Amino acid sequence: MMNTFTWLFVAVLAAASATRLWLSLRQIRHVRAHRGAVPGMFAESIPLAAHQKAADYTVAKARLGVIDTVLDALILLALTLGGGLQWLSSLWERVFPLDSLWHGTALILSVFLAKGVLGLPLDLYRIFVIEERFGFNRLTLKLYATDLVKHLLVGAVLGIPLLLVMLWLMQAAGPLWWLYAWLVLISYSLFLQMVYPAVVMPLFNKFSPLSDPVLAAKVEELLRRTGFRSRGLYVMDGSKRSSHGNAFFTGFGAAKRIVLFDTLVSRLQPAEVEAVLAHELGHYKLHHVIKGMALSFAFSFVLLFALGALASQPWFYQGLGLRTASPAIALLLFLLVVGEFTYFLQPLLSLFSRKNEYEADRYAAQYANPAELAQALVKLYHDNSSTLTPDPLHSAYYDSHPPAAMRIARLRTT
Ligand SMILES: [Zn+2]
Repeated sequence: MMNTFTWLFVAVLAAASATRLWLSLRQIRHVRAHRGAVPGMFAESIPLAAHQKAADYTVAKARLGVIDTVLDALILLALTLGGGLQWLSSLWERVFPLDSLWHGTALILSVFLAKGVLGLPLDLYRIFVIEERFGFNRLTLKLYATDLVKHLLVGAVLGIPLLLVMLWLMQAAGPLWWLYAWLVLISYSLFLQMVYPAVVMPLFNKFSPLSDPVLAAKVEELLRRTGFRSRGLYVMDGSKRSSHGNAFFTGFGAAKRIVLFDTLVSRLQPAEVEAVLAHELGHYKLHHVIKGMALSFAFSFVLLFALGALASQPWFYQGLGLRTASPAIALLLFLLVVGEFTYFLQPLLSLFSRKNEYEADRYAAQYANPAELAQALVKLYHDNSSTLTPDPLHSAYYDSHPPAAMRIARLRTT
């Protein structure tokens, strides 16, 4: 059963897991070492107690990340080389023929369900112990449970048709199935981007038009200055689940809406919200959204091409602990292990994202007051207990946003 690919997989999984653990431990060590003093440039704006809370919060999350990494690696090994997938596949073979769409669908859904159940304790711990202890959690167990059921239903309604089409293409569309699958995938994701804000998000949150007249006037003026057209400005009741704040856009073209979290509106002054929004507008105006989408489409093209090549190779199945082969098993194996191989691309994606953040900051500095943006960032870091002293390597590997000190330093020089 074992072959060269087995050893490649084990080596990559070990290297990825070891890198994850090493970076987490570095982060914990670095944040703890700087817990005693607020960095100079924040000395006047952030109290020591808040800095220490941020350190403790960061360390608690990083520790949970360590457990998560180990658990994920064990689950992956159990499913593949441990024979878990083979066992489940044989189980479903008693109900449906191996090559049928039903067998494939049942197998994939049962694996995702099992992974979800295994991940549940950590998720509960993260929300009801860590977020709770640091005062961020607003979820009740009841709301958590209804959210979970809604997510499952939405996932089933949106995911199962796509899954059926994919499996059918793999079976029936010939050697170029992966190309058709890619076309289906990108059309579907464009369709989702239209449907999601209008149909799915209102299932979870309330969106009300922005009522603060001072802020509304400032935002209108900003939109006029930047020539940005939107279908409205909304406040979302993010405080229902968490006290973390945010601002974002949904939708496309002329149908895009601007959404502000209620937590953001209540904590920041109108001029600060305006500056944060100018930054978000920057992402749109500088085509970061389109570039990000193009990148992810290119990425899925490469991945589907790889899956197309692997699905017909017996060594792919055998190397990952499977005796039987089917399109669903190929898709499942691929989805389970691909993250270990692409993990090493993470620093490049983070770099791309941080470059965009600097560009959006520069845009915000042109169309709003950079001092207000810097002030808003300090408040957001403070309120979200984000660490001001991340480990530089951990930050370079993962962080989608540059460290606060570097962003603010740049805003001061623009
Ligand atoms: Zn941004």
